[in-house]
Parts: sequence; structure tokens; C-alpha cells
Amino acid sequence: MDLILRNARLAGDPAGLVDIGIEAGRIAVIEPDLSAEGETLDAAGRLVSPGFVETHLHLDKSCIMDRCRQARGDIKEAIAEVARVKAGFTAEDVYERGRRTIEKCMLQGTTHMRTQLEVDPGIGLRGFEGVRKLVEDFAFAIDIEICVFPQEGLLNNPGTDELMVEAMRSGAKVVGAAPYTDSDPHGQIERVFEIAREFDADIDMHLDFGADPSDLDLLKVCELAERYGRGGRVAIGHVTKLAYVPPERLEAIARRMRDAGVALTVLPSTDLFLMGREHDHGHSRGVTRAHEMVRHGVNCSLSTNNVLNPFTPFGDCSLIRMANLNANICHVGAASDLAECFSMVTTRAAKLMNLSDYGLEVGRSADLVVIDAESPQAAVAELSPVLCAFKRGRRTMTRVPAELHYPG
Ligand SMILES: [Zn+2]
Repeated sequence: MDLILRNARLAGDPAGLVDIGIEAGRIAVIEPDLSAEGETLDAAGRLVSPGFVETHLHLDKSCIMDRCRQARGDIKEAIAEVARVKAGFTAEDVYERGRRTIEKCMLQGTTHMRTQLEVDPGIGLRGFEGVRKLVEDFAFAIDIEICVFPQEGLLNNPGTDELMVEAMRSGAKVVGAAPYTDSDPHGQIERVFEIAREFDADIDMHLDFGADPSDLDLLKVCELAERYGRGGRVAIGHVTKLAYVPPERLEAIARRMRDAGVALTVLPSTDLFLMGREHDHGHSRGVTRAHEMVRHGVNCSLSTNNVLNPFTPFGDCSLIRMANLNANICHVGAASDLAECFSMVTTRAAKLMNLSDYGLEVGRSADLVVIDAESPQAAVAELSPVLCAFKRGRRTMTRVPAELHYPG
């Protein structure tokens, strides 16, 4: 064996410890007391999980706080500041900031990512070029796929459609949307389904971002997912409007999404930061209750979205922290729901991205993390650190456990 992880505790199987043998970058065997030779790492009963999966992260506009004014910290200022600094982005600049964000993701055990990327006549393909080089240079640690989308609108912004198509031709794997900035939101959604059909691509849209649930674009998305036969290949992100619907309606909408094969990504940090501003006190949370959507049969992921920009001026790229934040603000207390919060940053996120080579099974790529916890729910509850990560069997990060120093 090239590597043996001994005494690993697997999620969902807390009873016994197993050894994981890795050969040629793949999981070759999982069994107790494996009799084999090779480089050995003792997990000492800690949780070993498949790597973390970011389904929604904006590399191109991450790490810009140092060039943005932050006088008021409100949304008006955020929109104005991001528009101002975006005009100055170059491919090299996007690469350099994206590199810092990817390195943070590596330190948190992320092994797969879908990155949302803006094209429009203002930025052209400069962001795309910077991120495409990151995809190549960091393939040793994280599989990154690009989801290209029109942040400034599509039908109202001539030239954007051609740039999206060109990015799809040049290697973008997923097509996205932000219909709430378009003069014709449903027209944009329909056009995105056409592009997805043309390139046989998955779809991942920013959708239903707001506090008024009277009008939901997701119903249009469900209808088109069925009409275009793309069930299982469509995800929608934010969908904060569902935080403002009562349980019976939430269940009916969830069933609709489940039947149409539309998955949901909740972005707890951004949603919590940007929503709930309609009152000057007694703020609502504005974060859709993903664990309840899961109970109704919708596949869900939790993801980071923005890192250190005025729309989310925070970010350590820890998906365990995101799962914990989500659990805390959505009143997740049941052990099984806490475990689901962990699966929404691992296996459920991988399913949303249709990653066929992911998982702790013999034959799959050895993309693994060792976490200083005994169970997924403990990792979420205690914000347990990732101690090491492996991509295709090669170690990509190591964190030394903290030590206490008692007197004497
Ligand atoms: Zn986003």
C-alpha cells in the first residue's frame, strides 16, 4: 500500500475502528486490522471523512476588503464598492486573491469546489482567465469547476450572452444565473436552460434572494427542469425567501423541488449578514432551514459564498464553521439534524455537484480528511479542527493538535 490510515472512525459507523489502505491515489481496502505494509498514519480513533465540498464560492471577488471603503458597512455601500473595485480586476489580480482563498480552503480540508464566476462586458473574460489558471495550478489539492454567470444581468446587458457562451466553450462546466438583477428574470432563467442544453451542463443559479415570498422564481425553475429533462442537474442558491414561509407552504414547495430534481444551497454567512435588515431592531435571520428541506426530500448543501468582500466581510473557508453557524441560527438541536449539517458540506454537497468519484468507498479517489472529533455531529457542535487532508492519496495539509501546558 502507498498509505495506510489506521484506527479511523467513519461517519455513520461509530461502532468500530477501521484501517483504510490507499494505492495509486484510490481507496484500495477498508477493513479492521488490515494486514499490509506501507507508510502508516494513526488516526487514533478520530473521524475520517471524505473531503469537504464547496458548492458555491466566489474566488474572483474574494479578498478585496483591503481596497474597499468600509465606512458604514451597509448594503448600499457594499454594492457601490464592489462595482468600483471590480472595474480594476485583472487576470493576475484575480489569480493572486483567488490563490489566497484556495489556500485557506486547503487548510480547512476542502477537496472539491464549484466556483461562481462573473462575466459581462465590464470584466470581460479577465476573471475567467485568472480562475482557469487557478483550476490548473491547484488541481493537486482541489478539483475546481467553474460556474459562469451574469451578475449584472443577461438580457439587459448586451454582450454578456456571447461571453457566457465563450466561457462555456473554454472550459466552464456549469452555467449559472442571477435573475433578480435582470430586466426579464424569467427570460434569463429560460436562456440559462438553453445554454445548459447546448453544452450538456449542470445549472446552478442564485435565486429568490429577498424577504418577500409572494413571488418565487424557483417555481419557474422547477417547471423548466422538467420541461428540459434536467432533473438532478439543477441547483439553486440563497433562496432566502423560503425563510419567510410557514411550515405547510415550505413542505409543499420542498415536495415540488424534490419531484423536479432541484437541489438547494444555503449560504449561511452571507444570508445572515445581508438579510433581516428591513427592521431597525428585532431582526429576522433570513436563512432557509435546509435541514427541514432535507427532511422533505430535497438535496441540500451549505457553502461559503463570499470571502472577505463587502457582501460578506468574513471568511476562514471552514465548512465545519459554516455547518456550525447554520445549526446555531436555524435552531438545529437534534443529533440526526446536526449530522445532516455535516453531510451538507460533504456527501450531500458532492451529490449536488454530481461527483461520481467521491466518497469513502473502495475504488473511489482517496480524497480524505482526518478531523479531531469522534462523530460528524461532534465536529459540527465543537468546531473540531481538521488535522490533515489527502487529495488522491497525497497529503496536502497538516495541523498539529493544540497542547495545554499545566504547571509542574
Ligand atoms: Zn453567490
